[in-house]
Amino acid sequence: MKLYLVLIGLICYLSVLSVSSVDGAESPRIIIVGAGAAGIAAASRLYQRGLKNITILEASHRMGGRIRTTPFGSGIVEIGAQWCHGEQGNVVYQLAKVYPGLLKSSIIADKDAALIRSSGIKVPDAVAERLQTMAEDIVNSDERDAFAGSLGEFFTQKYWLKLKEPAFSDISKELAEQFLVYYHNYERGYTAYDTWYDVAASETDSYVEPAGNQDIAWNGKKGFSSIFDIVSGNFPGTTNSTLTPVPLGNLITYGKFVSNIQWKGSAEGDVIVSAQDGSQYEADNVIVTVSLGVLKENYKTMFTPALPTVNQQAITGLYFGTVNKIFVRFDAPIPEDMPNTVHLLWYKSDLDTLRSTPHAWAEAISTFFRIDNQPNVLMAWMNGAEGRGAENLPEAQLKEGILHLLKIFTKDLVFGNIQEVLRSQWSSERLFRGSYSSRSITTEELNTGAKYLGEPVKNAANEPVLLFAGEATNPIHYSTVHGALDSGFREADRLLSLYS
Ligand SMILES: Cc1cc2nc3c(=O)[nH]c(=O)nc-3n(C[C@H](O)[C@H](O)[C@H](O)COP(=O)(O)OP(=O)(O)OC[C@H]3O[C@@H](n4cnc5c(N)ncnc54)[C@H](O)[C@@H]3O)c2cc1C
Repeated sequence: MKLYLVLIGLICYLSVLSVSSVDGAESPRIIIVGAGAAGIAAASRLYQRGLKNITILEASHRMGGRIRTTPFGSGIVEIGAQWCHGEQGNVVYQLAKVYPGLLKSSIIADKDAALIRSSGIKVPDAVAERLQTMAEDIVNSDERDAFAGSLGEFFTQKYWLKLKEPAFSDISKELAEQFLVYYHNYERGYTAYDTWYDVAASETDSYVEPAGNQDIAWNGKKGFSSIFDIVSGNFPGTTNSTLTPVPLGNLITYGKFVSNIQWKGSAEGDVIVSAQDGSQYEADNVIVTVSLGVLKENYKTMFTPALPTVNQQAITGLYFGTVNKIFVRFDAPIPEDMPNTVHLLWYKSDLDTLRSTPHAWAEAISTFFRIDNQPNVLMAWMNGAEGRGAENLPEAQLKEGILHLLKIFTKDLVFGNIQEVLRSQWSSERLFRGSYSSRSITTEELNTGAKYLGEPVKNAANEPVLLFAGEATNPIHYSTVHGALDSGFREADRLLSLYS
């Protein structure tokens, strides 16, 4: 009797599956690999415009990818993306601004930043501002395009020439050298490379900064992850959003590490997607949104047949670097006199000493930041190879290193006791292998770029079967969430126009 009931149950279950697949047969079967910003944007656009037979295969057990809002202390912290950079021309801002109070200018946008030397002495604000503005002008200069060498060579040449001008005659050689070392470290964080001598001064793809406030923070418990509710039309509360709600929970299958995509597929032309657990899926089109780091590590086995040369060259030629973060929670608020942003300038002898201690990893830190909505938490970026090294250090060593730096740079301030430390491990994590993409000298030598990484692979009928989205495929907004969202929309639109 029991077996009979089980069989009836199974028949009912199978008939439900086949109803959905009959439905699906009318609509192309689309698989999206990865449930990060690009994957969710692509799925939402497709679903909202009528292509609903979507399966998102996500290797981890959570949505978000490099947006990773995490509970910490009395609130949340952002282990990955934190700020919305810009307003006009930034799809994140444009989508979120309709929800009153969700976005606000970050405390780091306040002009409360300081350059502090390893003597504990602050560089006078007016001097600091002149140096920062001059450095930014060099990095943003149009002259970069005509320079044949690396960004490091370009920057240092221009920097020392500028310092010869009367406007900078008050800057000592010692301060100038300290600022140069700091600024290089800071830039490493911003652009995720190990050294600016690896980066060409002239870039084929150059980032176009959306106008407006570059440091916009999120209110609310969901932080940057709110963007997924917004894009998918599921953000609670009243708004003037007209987006159809997308049942993301039904579309995503978690725990599926895609190990192979046979894009010439079956005799019928289906693409066959295999996951590492042995499961297989058939699709008409596949959008791959995994990070460039994952592609670099797996592209030789992930695609059958091998990808065309143009795509392979983009995977090997584009740069994928690491920036890590460390959050430290104290049992008391950060002292009031600590500026919102503190940049660290080393005397050479102090830096040499640091390098011979167990705190050598801390050279990775260019800057301490207060963070929005958490008065007891201090954050630092850990840049370059030293920051990657810190991914696997014991927490106690990290804690001691942070206290050591605070003692050197903020001598007169009294901090509470450290209660908790949290650090990211973007490079060690198999599902990322780094933080975000940038351009190296090799990228330029190979004459490749984001556009080639995003080049769809076509079947014999010249239709795109294998498509690529993700921040690294965006030629003007790479390395950001808005770039990732735009790339997901771009590939969804490609399929919408194919099937329209
Ligand atoms: C430390 C840090 C700070 C940042 N700060 C900012 C910021 O302030 N502002 C900003 O705009 N941007 C910032 N970014 C960049 C931003 O987070 C990324 O550009 C964006 O989130 C990338 O989205 P994506 O969809 O392209 O890729 P991902 O988010 O990497 O999504 C890819 C998904 O694919 C999954 N996956 C990987 N391999 C497989 C596989 N084989 N099979 C199935 N699934 C797989 C992953 O688990 C992931 O969920 C930051 C990033 C980092 C790391």
